Amino acid sequence: MRDFQFQRLTQGQNVGVINLGCARNLVDSQVILSNFKRQGHRLVDMRQADVAVVNTCAFIEEAKKESVDTILELLELKKQGKLKRVIVAGCLAQRYGNELAKEMKGIDVILGTQKLDSTAIPSDVSLTPKHYAYVKICESCYNRCSFCIIPKIKGKFVSRTIESVVEEVKRLDARGVKEINLIGQDITAYGMDLYHQFALARLLKAIIPVTKNIQWVRLLYAFPAHVTDELIDVMASEPKICKYIDIPLQHISDHILSSMNRNINKQGTIDLIQKFKQKIPTGSLRTTFIVGLPGETGENFQELLRFIQEARFEKVGVFVYSHEEGTEAYAMPDQVPATLKKKRMNQLMQIQQKISSTIQESCVGRTVRVLIEEPQKNESNLYLGRTEYDAPEVDGVVFVRSTKKLEPGDFVDVNITDAYEYDLAGDAV
Ligand code: SF4
Repeated sequence: MRDFQFQRLTQGQNVGVINLGCARNLVDSQVILSNFKRQGHRLVDMRQADVAVVNTCAFIEEAKKESVDTILELLELKKQGKLKRVIVAGCLAQRYGNELAKEMKGIDVILGTQKLDSTAIPSDVSLTPKHYAYVKICESCYNRCSFCIIPKIKGKFVSRTIESVVEEVKRLDARGVKEINLIGQDITAYGMDLYHQFALARLLKAIIPVTKNIQWVRLLYAFPAHVTDELIDVMASEPKICKYIDIPLQHISDHILSSMNRNINKQGTIDLIQKFKQKIPTGSLRTTFIVGLPGETGENFQELLRFIQEARFEKVGVFVYSHEEGTEAYAMPDQVPATLKKKRMNQLMQIQQKISSTIQESCVGRTVRVLIEEPQKNESNLYLGRTEYDAPEVDGVVFVRSTKKLEPGDFVDVNITDAYEYDLAGDAV
């Protein structure tokens, strides 16, 4: 953060952070806290804080509401004398900075995302448990999806250099981290600005040799149109790369994909999934869909339902289209009524739930490798962990029964005995 306004704070303040939104925000919160620490302030739990930082999200309506409610709660605490300063950072601050300053009296600093140095490496503050970390490899987005405000909020797409990412990975490895999650709005566009080519595969080839403690490298948020054959080949051949990819497809109808500016059509999407499953037969796909984009007809939606039934994705998130000012879709005709959007979302989720339970059931009897997260509270011999097919904070967990004491960051093989809607349970071998 170049123009670091908090230098003006008297040194030695107690600073707490509330992080809202996605893992990318979490990395930004780490950067903000690192800067505070370097300025001589203490990082504390929010309950002990004098200075509160809220890192906001403004992706969709619900996220904005949560951000505004949190700011209001903090301002109330300030009024009661329990806080000295309230700092609002993140996407809401970037998007509605002027409005916030005008409407919400008591905010001390508004710090939009574009004021953060996105290439800063938060080497001395971690908001994740010791055994995993997020590594942001690019900032903002290379794409211009018609429904999305993110590129406008975040500004120019910027990739970090391969050298800078490798240095960070080396540092994390030396700290004993076991899993790194590469993140960005679209990590598959990594390198387009710096190297004028899709360079994620090249980056992975540079990262893997410097990992010793790190056993899992996970790719989060791929853009379907940018997944190259080289990337799938690297994923298939490198054991340390999780055979899991989070690849938001958003829709399958050609008409809607084109309205969304996704640069891929139905056939291209089907070919991509087939290629992935062919080269990585054990691979697991997480995806998201948006229902109710303006102009989505009943037939477009039925096409999506049929696709989901055929593709049988392991993990699916469904969102209703959020009507966001400033986006291309905002002015599109034929907006879908809110009740119909909701109905479509529920229908889609019901179908996916059945698919997910069949996939979950098929895990019973298998032995899977699990990374231990933490002991289950108030239960001896029971631990929570994740497989390589479960991203932290997003996917399900594995309940692991073990007579041997396990520590967070341990890897164990687990015989799966039970399957639930999202989670699994089993015995450590
Ligand atoms: S890929 Fe599309 S939806 Fe995702 S952040 Fe970029 S513009 Fe938004």
